[in-house]
Amino acid sequence: MHYDLIIIGAGTSGFPSAKIAAEYGKKVLMLGDGALGGKCIENGCIPAKAMIYAAKIYKTALNAEKFGVDVKDVKLNFKKVLEYTNKLVRDAISDNEKQLAGFINIDFLKQKGHCVSDSSVEVGNEVYTTDNILISTGTKPFIPPIEGISDVDYLTHETIFNIEKVPKSIAFVGGGFISLEFANVFNSLGSNVYLIDTGSRPIFATDESVSLAIKKYYEEDGITFISNSRTTKVSQSSGKILLETNKGDKIEVEKMMISTGFIANTEGLNLEAAGVQTDARGHIIVNKFLQTSKPNIYAIGDILGKTQFTHMALRESKIVIHNMFNEAKIPVTFENIPYAVFTEPPIGSIGKTEQELRNAGVEYKVVQTEYSKSSRGHLMKLNRGKLKLLYNQEDQILGCHIIGEGADILIHEIIPLIHIPNGLSVFRHLIHAHPTLSELFRNLQEQIGFF
Ligand SMILES: Cc1cc2nc3c(=O)[nH]c(=O)nc-3n(C[C@H](O)[C@H](O)[C@H](O)COP(=O)(O)OP(=O)(O)OC[C@H]3O[C@@H](n4cnc5c(N)ncnc54)[C@H](O)[C@@H]3O)c2cc1C
Repeated sequence: MHYDLIIIGAGTSGFPSAKIAAEYGKKVLMLGDGALGGKCIENGCIPAKAMIYAAKIYKTALNAEKFGVDVKDVKLNFKKVLEYTNKLVRDAISDNEKQLAGFINIDFLKQKGHCVSDSSVEVGNEVYTTDNILISTGTKPFIPPIEGISDVDYLTHETIFNIEKVPKSIAFVGGGFISLEFANVFNSLGSNVYLIDTGSRPIFATDESVSLAIKKYYEEDGITFISNSRTTKVSQSSGKILLETNKGDKIEVEKMMISTGFIANTEGLNLEAAGVQTDARGHIIVNKFLQTSKPNIYAIGDILGKTQFTHMALRESKIVIHNMFNEAKIPVTFENIPYAVFTEPPIGSIGKTEQELRNAGVEYKVVQTEYSKSSRGHLMKLNRGKLKLLYNQEDQILGCHIIGEGADILIHEIIPLIHIPNGLSVFRHLIHAHPTLSELFRNLQEQIGFF
């Protein structure tokens, strides 16, 4: 059988690409051995954010008294939290399956596939030919070579949703956004939480002030950071896991979760036969039109090793199908991509961090404010949170970094402004409704001027 397009990987980026190509009238074969719709819905964004939301509701109920609301007998029912989370996953997958059934020109095989050449793919014992190939096989957790690791029941984001009860204690290995999000969940639900990280501060790529703030807030909440430390040895006995670090720390916990980055799912794809090049870390190399070293083979999503976000995976799926079937191609950009981290409080970020500007020797100005200095923040008793805006002499906004309630939403004010050369002059004129957290931006206008 011959296709216009064979997609290897039916995940967050692959499945939407199949639908777009089918809407173009193309005949598509999609291969995928995981949940239809991928990591985001199966064991990534959606179940993680659901668990985070449940933990927030629980903590809010426990603290309702501060606002004159008596909530009696607040109890956590973790089984029901998991039911809520798992139902979201099941519903999303079944919704995708229903959608797929509506596309007569997409053939789906729930199997792995690999390249035979730059225009043929083998699945089982069948070889299918095609004009184009799209590789969207994503990534899997990287498990560092820790002594004893294969004898220990460690968790990753793929298995954390299977735990049946809140552990008395849990250690997170890795200081990235996934560890930070789950660390807060389990701390809020009553676990004793440890976070072991080789870095000096968590979520290292984010703005230093934000990263230091989240560390401070988490420490105030009772989370123990073991920073600048490498987990070197683990062992398990009588239901306890012992983690040891190169600094001599020994931590005994009920559960441990590893979140130390990802490796590209290229194994077994036989990319050499197709002539597709990868970089030193195994990620597929693409040009700005998302074409690999073979122009009819494209790649998108986490496999590129660039911004590993669902919102980019979705945008890339639109661009890649356009580029595949149109002469005039659209370039993809990885600059100024906003992101949110669902810590407590959350983080919203876009553009350059202050340390990036400093290291690059770029001249910049900075204004900042704190949540407690807004009417809304004050009435909500938000004594945590800050907002920072970076810009230059020419009124170009260079970056914005927020940590605090609603940061994931507030950051969107800056998205259109960072894309225009004189964003700051537009920003000066904006009026923010009272009393909202958006008035934090008015605090910045007080500093930079309103006209
Ligand atoms: C815990 C967690 C929380 C996250 N939270 C957020 C968030 O809040 N916001 C955000 O933007 N992003 C978040 N992400 C990241 C987001 O989930 C990913 O960026 C996105 O899902 C990547 O999509 P993808 O299409 O590249 O890969 P995937 O969705 O992983 O899809 C790849 C698919 O390819 C399949 N596959 C692999 N090998 C083969 C093969 N040989 N043949 C056929 N199929 C194959 C896999 O089974 C999988 O189904 C989170 C990730 C995690 C782990």
